[in-house]
Amino acid sequence: SEVVLSVRDISRVYSTKDPTKLFGKQHVHAVRGVSFDVHKGDSLGIVGESGCGKSSLSRLLSLLELPNTGQILFKGKDIARLNARGQLDLRKRFQLLLQDPFNAIPPHFTIGRTIAEPLRIHGMAGSAIRPKVEQVMQEIGLSLDLHDKLPVGLSAGQRQRVNIARAMVLDPELLILDETLSALDQVEQTKLLALFEKLQRERGITLLYISHDLGMVRRVCNRVAVMYLGRVVELSDNQTTFFNPGHPYTRALLSAVPSIEARPYDPEKYLLEGEPPNPINIPPGCSFRTRCPFAIEKCATIDPVLTPRAGEAFAACHLAKIVEAA
Ligand code: SF4
Ligand code: MG
Repeated sequence: SEVVLSVRDISRVYSTKDPTKLFGKQHVHAVRGVSFDVHKGDSLGIVGESGCGKSSLSRLLSLLELPNTGQILFKGKDIARLNARGQLDLRKRFQLLLQDPFNAIPPHFTIGRTIAEPLRIHGMAGSAIRPKVEQVMQEIGLSLDLHDKLPVGLSAGQRQRVNIARAMVLDPELLILDETLSALDQVEQTKLLALFEKLQRERGITLLYISHDLGMVRRVCNRVAVMYLGRVVELSDNQTTFFNPGHPYTRALLSAVPSIEARPYDPEKYLLEGEPPNPINIPPGCSFRTRCPFAIEKCATIDPVLTPRAGEAFAACHLAKIVEAA
């Protein structure tokens, strides 16, 4: 199907002051040469430990920041080359949903006004606003009684629904969920996942799930990108990611997920120890080398690139094997 978003070799560096003041400015290499395509209707999971660059990537994909190098193409158009009007229009179509909507919902606005706010910002005529807000509230499962109420007393799940309604009112094509459901209990998570599935089915929207929750990603995503130290080290379909991953880091992450029963490898051999290196000081060669039990000599000097293992499965490891046909 159609490629909605094409990420081409993007990198993002942040400068920070060295707290010890010994070194002056330091450069945090948060995203390093990431490339992938997102197809219409995809649900792509982006996973990895905290600090792997997931949230930096989500800020780039939601157009809050531009990459230092590389390109992000929306339906073939380079977003960095759009004029102000084009960028504003695109922001409507890419909506970011964060984990904690508590701070994002103004306590002194009615819920209806909060959901309507983006429509006002984007210049919708006053008389068209209320019907649109009500339509979206119904679609998201918010009672219309809430329209004129203040958000005080709403549950965490209802607040997240207000947040989702506020995003959906702009008819986005892409929703970027950055740990959006992490603070909710299992029951609420399940309900909202069903809601996202419905939005995908009925509106054809594309979803990016940025999450540390591999069990959830396994349930809902058709493709998965695994990030380590700013790189995508594995990019595969759901089945390959969870049952026959090619990268030792993916195997290590999955070894910690008890609900995955069948694995073609011994999870005991892939336990994750230690911490990732500091993104200020990226070691040469494979960035997973310092924690990889299988490192060979060339891993210290040659940084492996994402290489196809099968049709939809890629891994960046010198030892990744071609996937055997089942
Ligand atoms: Fe381990 Fe080498 Fe593969 Fe990196 S390239 S994951 S160090 S075996
Ligand atoms: Mg994060």
